[in-house]
Amino acid sequence: MTRRSGLWTALLLATALAAGAGQEDLQGLFDGTGTKIDLKALLAQTKNSVPKIDHVIGFEDRYWVEVTASGKNERTRLADTGMSIDGVNGGVVSGTADSEILGIIQKAGFTVVRATRLSSFSPDDFPPADGTYHNYEEVQSALQTAQGAAPEYATLFSMGKSVEGRDLTGIRFYKDDGKEKPGILFVGTHHAREHLSTEVPLLLSQWLAENRDREDVRELLETRDIYIVPLVNPDGMEFDIATGRYRWHRKNMTRNSNGSVGVDLNRNYAWGWGGRGSSANPGSDTYHGPSAFSEPETQAVRDFIESHPNIKIMLSYHTFSELVLYPWGGSDEPIADGRALGAFKVMAEKMGGMTGYRPMQSSELYVATGDTCDWAWGAKGIFCFTFELTPRSQWQGGFYPGAGAIQGTFAKNIDPALYLIDLADDPYRAGSGRVASAPKPTTTQTGDNPI
Ligand SMILES: [Zn+2]
Repeated sequence: MTRRSGLWTALLLATALAAGAGQEDLQGLFDGTGTKIDLKALLAQTKNSVPKIDHVIGFEDRYWVEVTASGKNERTRLADTGMSIDGVNGGVVSGTADSEILGIIQKAGFTVVRATRLSSFSPDDFPPADGTYHNYEEVQSALQTAQGAAPEYATLFSMGKSVEGRDLTGIRFYKDDGKEKPGILFVGTHHAREHLSTEVPLLLSQWLAENRDREDVRELLETRDIYIVPLVNPDGMEFDIATGRYRWHRKNMTRNSNGSVGVDLNRNYAWGWGGRGSSANPGSDTYHGPSAFSEPETQAVRDFIESHPNIKIMLSYHTFSELVLYPWGGSDEPIADGRALGAFKVMAEKMGGMTGYRPMQSSELYVATGDTCDWAWGAKGIFCFTFELTPRSQWQGGFYPGAGAIQGTFAKNIDPALYLIDLADDPYRAGSGRVASAPKPTTTQTGDNPI
């Protein structure tokens, strides 16, 4: 209930702002208790008295920010400031920033209509209310359970190690008959605070194991090479939940040269690295890192893909906003290859229909360089999609929609996963080919953890 009441407080504040506040007030900044923030004083205080490490990794100096910006060019200009853009609602863009980035946003001429301290609506009840989400250890054991349920197909592997030495554990479904088969890779949680993006691929692995005897599922398991890595950023995820109170942490746990923490893994890939929509400021939530592939987590994804050239399709799960995104993210241009673009569009629209999520080229939202899918497609020719999962907005739970969101979100996302697994032999047949169609599971009680 703490989380909910926090959200309500913030929602009421927003309503009050919209309804009653004068223009002057709207341009001011408010914290979650309705106290007006003096940005100048805030910046001075940050500079002079707050230790840098707390400034960056704590959340006392971080804000949920809403800024007026219309159209993708304005949104891209906003992304350039180092604000993470997590929601777009008409002419208002929302996301996270610290006071330094807030200053940059204002200096760039944007109107900040709201800035709520993250601490004011962070829940303090991850355990037990959100206990059905899997932490790192639970992901390991859930993957072991899935493997144990389908030993004729499933094996576990580690894609590599995180900065702090945790395994990027994955599960492979493949019938070992010595044949090369078309491959597909599902990855979750590049961004630490997007916990639902661990659950969906994890539950997919359990669902495939449990439904392996169904004819349509068996056909896919016997003719495809399926890799699922639910947790690409285990360090950041653990950091986000370590205190029992969400920290809204997005990045990995690299210690930057200026003492701040974290690189945005989804700005660290080599395609267009360091360009628009990513930040050179190590404190920013969208810091792209000192060089492309500077991080062990993105290196692991790169090396895995390079050593598995049979992978033709990739799906990278994120939250939130309910979108199905395809390249380019780093450029306004459409993909040059018309046939590929056609296939991308058909696939995105089909999966949009299955989920109710909105399909679009990633840069339609705003331009952001260095993401997974631009590299996967640009460098490797892999049909790569980014899903922004449930919910639609911050006001429906944002990054922390609660345990109740898991099953419904997973159920929506089974069909797109099966559809892509099926198309892995030839994504270009998206427009016409037979596709697997699976009825919704009657139950998704899976694995060793009560779901
Ligand atoms: Zn994300």
